[in-house]
Amino acid sequence: MKVIVIGAGASGVVAAINYKRHHLSDDVLIIEHLDKPLKKILATGNGKCNLGNAKIDFSRFNNPEFAKEIIADYDYKTLFDSVSIQTKLIDEYAYPVSESAVSVREALLNECRKLGIKINVEEQFENYEVNAQIKVITNKNTLVCDKLIISGGLCSSPKLGSDGSVLKIIEKHGYKINEPKAGLSPLYTIEKTKLIDGIRVKAKVSIIENGRKVHEELGEVLFKDHGLSGIVIFNAMSIIARKPDLKHKIVLDLLPDFSESFLTDYRKNHSFNEFLQAFINPKISSYLKERFTKENLIFESIKNLEFNFDKSYGFDFSQVSVGGISVEEINENMMSKRENNVYFIGELLDIDGPCGGYNLTWAFASALRIK
Ligand SMILES: Cc1cc2nc3c(=O)[nH]c(=O)nc-3n(C[C@H](O)[C@H](O)[C@H](O)COP(=O)(O)OP(=O)(O)OC[C@H]3O[C@@H](n4cnc5c(N)ncnc54)[C@H](O)[C@@H]3O)c2cc1C
Repeated sequence: MKVIVIGAGASGVVAAINYKRHHLSDDVLIIEHLDKPLKKILATGNGKCNLGNAKIDFSRFNNPEFAKEIIADYDYKTLFDSVSIQTKLIDEYAYPVSESAVSVREALLNECRKLGIKINVEEQFENYEVNAQIKVITNKNTLVCDKLIISGGLCSSPKLGSDGSVLKIIEKHGYKINEPKAGLSPLYTIEKTKLIDGIRVKAKVSIIENGRKVHEELGEVLFKDHGLSGIVIFNAMSIIARKPDLKHKIVLDLLPDFSESFLTDYRKNHSFNEFLQAFINPKISSYLKERFTKENLIFESIKNLEFNFDKSYGFDFSQVSVGGISVEEINENMMSKRENNVYFIGELLDIDGPCGGYNLTWAFASALRIK
C-alpha cells in the first residue's frame, strides 16, 4: 500500500505518523510546498506552542457536535508522550515542558525519520484523480497511491504555507465548501481609535449580533490605530466571521470588577474628573471625552462602550480560517463520502475554535482518526 499525505503541517505530519505506526510495511510520503515542514508550528503560542487544552468547551467550536465526536477520545498527553514530549498546564492551556515550539517540531520530525516517512518539500500539490488507484499530480511528479490524506489548511497566515490552494482543488471535485473567512484576528471598527492606539485594558467583551448578545468573555483588549485586538477580540472575530451577513457590535465593559451602583455612588461623592482619575486610564478618559462630550454619556460608556464592526484585519493577520469543507462531506473516520480512500483533516474542514489550544487539538485529533 502507498499513502500520500498532502501538507506537512500539524495535522498532515501527525496523520502520517499515526498511519505508519498502524501499517509499518506501507509507504507513506508527505508532499509539502514550502522549503521546510511544520513551519506554522514554530509560530504557535508565541513560539511556545499551546498544543492542547485540559478544559475544552466543545460549544466553542463551530459544528460542535462533529468536533466533539472526533475529539472526545483524544488525549494530547498520550500523543506527545509517544514522541518524547512532556507537557504541562499553565491554567488550562497545555504546552511542552520546554515551552518551545521548536521541541514539538523536532519531536514530530524525528518520529517521521524513525518510521521512514518521506517528506518531499518544495513540491506543490495540484490535483488528483480517483480511479482504481488515486493519481496525485504535483508541479514535479505524477504519483500513484492507494490512500490520499489531504490537509493543507485554509487561508490564514499564508506565509506559513496555508494559501488556500488546496481548497481550490477540492472545490473542483464538487465538494460543498463554506467560503473561508479570517478568524482569530484583530478587527477594524467603524469608530476611530487612534487616540488610544497601544493602550491595553482588562474588559468584558460582548458581541451583539443583530441586536442580540451572543457571546461574552473577559480578557485583555488592545486598542489599535483603527480597531481592536487581543485574544478576546480574536475570539470575537471568529464568532463574527461565522455569521458574516449579520450586523455586529462589540461592547466593552471597561470596569468589569465594579458594579454600576458602586460607580454611581462614587461619582455622586466626587467631581467627574476625580471619578475618571480614580478608575480610567487618562488616555482613555480623553478619548471618551472627545467621543461622547457629555458627562452622563461618558459615564454610561464606561460599562457599555460600543463599537460597530467594520471588517477583519484579513488572512495575513489571522490565526485560523472560519469555513472550509463542509463536515457533511466526510464520515467519522475523516473519509470523503464522495471519493473512496480520500481523507480530509485539520483546518481544511469547516471546524474552528477559539485561542487556547483548540485548533491544534482539532488538527491532531482529526489526524489520529485515520488508522
Ligand atoms: C501565528 C499563529 C499562532 C497559532 N497559535 C496556536 C496555538 O498556540 N494553539 C493552537 O491550538 N492553534 C494555534 N494556531 C492555529 C494552528 O496553528 C492551526 O489551526 C493548525 O496549524 C492547522 O493545522 P493544519 O495541519 O490543518 O494546517 P497547517 O498547519 O496550515 O498546515 C498545512 C500545510 O500544508 C501545506 N500546503 C498548503 N497548500 C499546499 C499545496 N498546494 N501543496 C503542498 N503543500 C501545501 C502548507 O505549507 C502547510 O505546511 C496558530 C496559528 C497561527 C498562524
